[in-house]
Amino acid sequence: MSTAPLSAAPAALRQLIDELAQLPGLGRRSATRIALSLVQDNQQALQRLIDRLAEAQKIAPCPLCGNPTAVLDSLCGLCSSSRRDRTALCVVEEVSDLWTIERSGAWHGLYFILGGRYSPLEGTGLAELPLDRLANRIEQHEVGEVLLALSPTVEGEATAGVLLDRLKGMNIRITRPARGLPSGRSMEAIDGKTMELALGARQRVG
Ligand SMILES: [Zn+2]
Repeated sequence: MSTAPLSAAPAALRQLIDELAQLPGLGRRSATRIALSLVQDNQQALQRLIDRLAEAQKIAPCPLCGNPTAVLDSLCGLCSSSRRDRTALCVVEEVSDLWTIERSGAWHGLYFILGGRYSPLEGTGLAELPLDRLANRIEQHEVGEVLLALSPTVEGEATAGVLLDRLKGMNIRITRPARGLPSGRSMEAIDGKTMELALGARQRVG
């Protein structure tokens, strides 16, 4: 499919394609295909998408952990649950990592989402990581265990090193998943059983 003759398309369609092409994982070709599908023969899907996008505007990060919540300024379902162990905190890089761990059912504590990983070459240095906010959370909520569930990559290892350094001296148990997470893979690519085993046999590192 050629994406060249866009001057033949109305401005509204061109702008829709431009907007879709900005989304992560979508190139111009996919954006064009989706836009044409929506406007040409899928009016019902278009209306559903409009409705979902309007609903999505109400989604905001949980003020405590950063997991998306549908109610502005209120805690997410995990942070407000009375069944979670509030003294255990799992540090992850991204929201999708939290979801991967939740799917495994192997963690019953709460979470802290870093929103990135230590990678100075990509512009995420110490100043860009919420290290003070993490330390405050640990102190204020009397956390006893911090599980560093970072991606099994070079950057994940570097991030673990930064966190170990920052949390050194705090009166907490720092743990990491047992060896066995497939190296170099993103957390999302790790299946539930592997995650469950790795978290069940987590090891103290600090
Ligand atoms: Zn939360």
